[in-house]
Amino acid sequence: MPQTPSLLDFYPLEDEKSTRISKFFDNVRQGHFTTTRCTKDQSVHWPPRVVCPQCHGEALEWIELPKKGRLFAFSALLLGLPMGMEGEAGAVVGMVELDGWPIKIFSRIANAKYEDCHIGDAVEWDPYTLADGRVFFRFRKPAAPPPA
Ligand SMILES: [Zn+2]
Repeated sequence: MPQTPSLLDFYPLEDEKSTRISKFFDNVRQGHFTTTRCTKDQSVHWPPRVVCPQCHGEALEWIELPKKGRLFAFSALLLGLPMGMEGEAGAVVGMVELDGWPIKIFSRIANAKYEDCHIGDAVEWDPYTLADGRVFFRFRKPAAPPPA
């Protein structure tokens, strides 16, 4: 993996010194997909917050999100791919609507070809670890069932 200049590094710094949502990344490391919910007005946030955007309160709790959703919209990256992704022209990105939740998440859609994607396709959460130990996530189309 090439060393990326820090200004072009599009993955967030995840440790406690760098972000007040470091718990999100700790949770990803444990296999949990989480976000914050305000304990006062029960609003659910994406991305995770440190202050509630509704009431400006700081009493937030971490809640588990479903790991399954559906493609709400999608596109393919053909030009201007970020450093480190130069060989991945055609990579699919999309807005994922989580099953039963009023939030949509922008994400890479792994193992998918643009021409095989459709609005409403099922996708599932797919965490991964970077070479430097940081973690992140994407969504992917579920593996096809084995032929009968
Ligand atoms: Zn609130």
